[in-house]
Amino acid sequence: CGIVAYVGNKQAAPLLVEGLKRLEYRGYDSAGVAITTPQGVEYARSVGRVSVLEDLITAEPDRYRGTLGIAHTRWATHGEPTEQNAHPHTGTTKSGHTISLVHNGIIENYRALRTYLEGKGHVFTSQTDTEVLAKLIAELYESAPESDNASAALETAVQTALREVTGAYAIAVTCTNEPHTLVAARKGSPLMIGVAENAYVVASDPSAIVAHTTQAITLDDYQVARLCAGPVDGWGQNAGIDIAAAKATGKPW
Ligand code: GLU
Repeated sequence: CGIVAYVGNKQAAPLLVEGLKRLEYRGYDSAGVAITTPQGVEYARSVGRVSVLEDLITAEPDRYRGTLGIAHTRWATHGEPTEQNAHPHTGTTKSGHTISLVHNGIIENYRALRTYLEGKGHVFTSQTDTEVLAKLIAELYESAPESDNASAALETAVQTALREVTGAYAIAVTCTNEPHTLVAARKGSPLMIGVAENAYVVASDPSAIVAHTTQAITLDDYQVARLCAGPVDGWGQNAGIDIAAAKATGKPW
């Protein structure tokens, strides 16, 4: 199982598929991607080999055009290896933005979180433990005080959500309201950040990063990273990397 995610100035889809192939040796039963495009976020999910996923994407190249994306190979722990259970999983924020998320690991308290989120009106579409993370981040996304830095809203929501979670995880998250931002976090599952020119590549291990850069940062347990590539017209001011030591901000996870 593995994660690859990209934000930068190149087309994300081919790069993510290439990265997933490099992680195939880790074992998996299904795979998926979410690409942030000018029209919104586009998904492809499939059971079986990464090449099956690749065929779906190459059949519709215009649909998957975008420079931000997350990708996943799944080793099912909760829920059968089906297309419906394949990642990315999603959540809808109060004002209608879409959260997309990939996860390796196990969320131990997912039952209680699912009951809570169903009570808030979220409708689950999979049997996975993972889906609670996407929906919890969506639930928290617009509940931060208005004075909060808007460009850090996703990072803040991820941080807040992870405080409610027990278990192990490496995650990569995007939100349609922040089309140039990638947020990554981990506890107990591996995840690293490759720093390239005008781009970041997040992956479970170096084999999916070395083609792009030799400069890498290993994310520590309990850290949340916000990655914005640039400079590109209009969004250069937020370019860069911000790693929050979330543990220090309050309740231990
Ligand atoms: N527990 C999650 C699931 O079953 C993630 C599995 C994985 O690490 O790939 O969907």
